[in-house]
Amino acid sequence: MIALDIAIKNKYYANSTAVVLKDIQFSVKPGEFVAIIGPSGSGKTTLLNMLSGLEDATAQKLLGNSKSLHDCKEYQLGYVFQQPRLMPWLTVNENIQLVLPTAQERKIKTLLAQVGLADKGDYYPKQLSGGMQRRVAIARAFAVNPELILLDEPFNSLDAPTAAKLRLLLVNLCKSCGSTVVFVTHDLSEAIYLADRIIFMSNSPSSIIHQVNVNLPKPRKESGSTELAWQSQLMAQYPQILSGSVSTD
Ligand code: ADP
Repeated sequence: MIALDIAIKNKYYANSTAVVLKDIQFSVKPGEFVAIIGPSGSGKTTLLNMLSGLEDATAQKLLGNSKSLHDCKEYQLGYVFQQPRLMPWLTVNENIQLVLPTAQERKIKTLLAQVGLADKGDYYPKQLSGGMQRRVAIARAFAVNPELILLDEPFNSLDAPTAAKLRLLLVNLCKSCGSTVVFVTHDLSEAIYLADRIIFMSNSPSSIIHQVNVNLPKPRKESGSTELAWQSQLMAQYPQILSGSVSTD
C-alpha cells in the first residue's frame, strides 16, 4: 500500500500563463480513500494527471512512500479516466490483457466475473453499453493490483441505478485490493458514500479550501438517513462549498 505526500506550489500549462493549481498540499494514508471535489475547470483532472505522470510535475513534490512517484515505478498504478478509453479493435479480454506483462487468462476471467461481465470477454467495446464499457475500464485498472488507483468522475453521465451498482463494485474491489484511492467527483453524496476523507477545491487558480473526514461507519448506504444528515450538516455549515468557497454568505 502506498502513502502519498503531495505539494504543488503552482501548476500552469506550457501554452498558457494561467495558474491552474496553487499551493496544493495534502497527504493520503496507505489504503485511504480520498475524494476530491471542486467546480468544473478547477484542475481536478490536471491533479490526477500530475499524480499519474501524464502531465508535467517538474519542481513539484509528489511522493509515494517518501520516494518520487514518477522516478521510481516500484508501485502499480490504476487509472480510470472519465471516458472508458477502450481500444475499439480489441476484445474485452484483449483490452485488459494489454496492461498485463504476461498472459493471465484466469485473472481476467475472475475480474470480469467480479464486474458482472463473465460472458463478455470476447465482445468488442462497441457491442457493450456505456455502463459495461466502464466496468471493463474498472476491471482493467484493477488488473494490475494497483497500490494507487486514480478515478476521474468514472460514473459521470450514467443512469442512477447503474452508477449505484458501479459504486458498490468499486467499494468491493478497493476492499479486496487494499489500494490507496484518489477519486475525483463533483457529486457530494457519491463522495460521502465512498470516501474516508473529502478534499474541497476552489475555483481556478485552485487551492484546497476544506478537508473533512467522513466519520461515518462503513458499509455506507446510498442516500441513507445518516449519510444525508451528514451531508445536510456540511452544507448548512458551508453553503457555497460546492461552488469552491467556504464563505458563509
Ligand atoms: P477539472 O478537471 O477540475 O474540470 P481541468 O484539470 O480539466 O479541470 O482543467 C483545469 C484548467 O486547466 C482549465 O482552465 C482548463 O482549461 C485548463 N487546461 C486543461 N488542460 C489544458 C491543456 N492541455 N492546456 C492548457 N490548459 C489546459
